[in-house]
Amino acid sequence: MSKYRFHILLIVIPFLLILTACQTSTGPASPSAALQVVATTSIVGDVVQQIGGDAIDLRILIPAGVDPHSFEPSPRQVAAMADADIIFTHGLGLEETMAPILKNMASEQKLIVAVAAHVPPLAGGDEHTGIDPHTWMDPNNVLLWVDVIEQALTKADPAHAEDYAANASAYRQQLQELDAWIRQQVATIPPDRRKIVTDHFIFSYFARRYGFEQLGAIIPGTSSLAGSSAQTLSKLEDVIRSTGVPAIFVGNTINPAVARRVAQDTGVQLITIYTGALSPADGPAATYLDYMRYNVRQIVTGLQ
Ligand SMILES: [Zn+2]
Repeated sequence: MSKYRFHILLIVIPFLLILTACQTSTGPASPSAALQVVATTSIVGDVVQQIGGDAIDLRILIPAGVDPHSFEPSPRQVAAMADADIIFTHGLGLEETMAPILKNMASEQKLIVAVAAHVPPLAGGDEHTGIDPHTWMDPNNVLLWVDVIEQALTKADPAHAEDYAANASAYRQQLQELDAWIRQQVATIPPDRRKIVTDHFIFSYFARRYGFEQLGAIIPGTSSLAGSSAQTLSKLEDVIRSTGVPAIFVGNTINPAVARRVAQDTGVQLITIYTGALSPADGPAATYLDYMRYNVRQIVTGLQ
């Protein structure tokens, strides 16, 4: 606990110094300057960029391949958050370690918008694991994000309302096409093989929408911050053996060593997917739409 407080102080003190410096050195931004927008994760950032287009100046805090549950911003990033017109978070507890700094900024009247605010939350693997914060695993939820983002950008920057509306409308169309494509892909998997074992419970929304069962996880929680014991792993291996599930899907943001051992013990395939973050720009999942297509292809390959 005391270590945690110390971390917060390290963040807050430079933040206050920078705030003071900004107030004395520069006046208000010119009215023609682009809206200054910060997004926490690369997935939230991509969707915000689709709606904001050229009218916004976007900074994404959590780099490609980095776990959003455990991310802590640098002092420079905290300064960018303090300067932003809007900060978009995912919400529903995804940005766990950022919660104190976000709460602090909200109390300073910073405009913080949780894109998942209107998504009906689902529990993870079972009701004891809490809310699953990975709402983007169902593109129909991202349609709800788009409404929230369009509304927030329009309110903050009414001069570009028409741009935001046009961008949102085009992106809604792409999300609906993605949903239709996922249905086609899933239809090629025999119904009795639509069972998923993964690294932590990220598939609740996907499973409900597309008719999968989320059988178990290496880390039996909705956050990668929870641990896993020898007991839970041996229980998971029993589940894998008794259900005959042919593959385990592991994310890019946690250490796959334990998953590798479970796969070896049970003789199933270990397949890589993207979970909390997009790939780098030259990778196969550089946008949210590509991320979903990549993951669904991996699932189809693993379960067919
Ligand atoms: Zn996660």
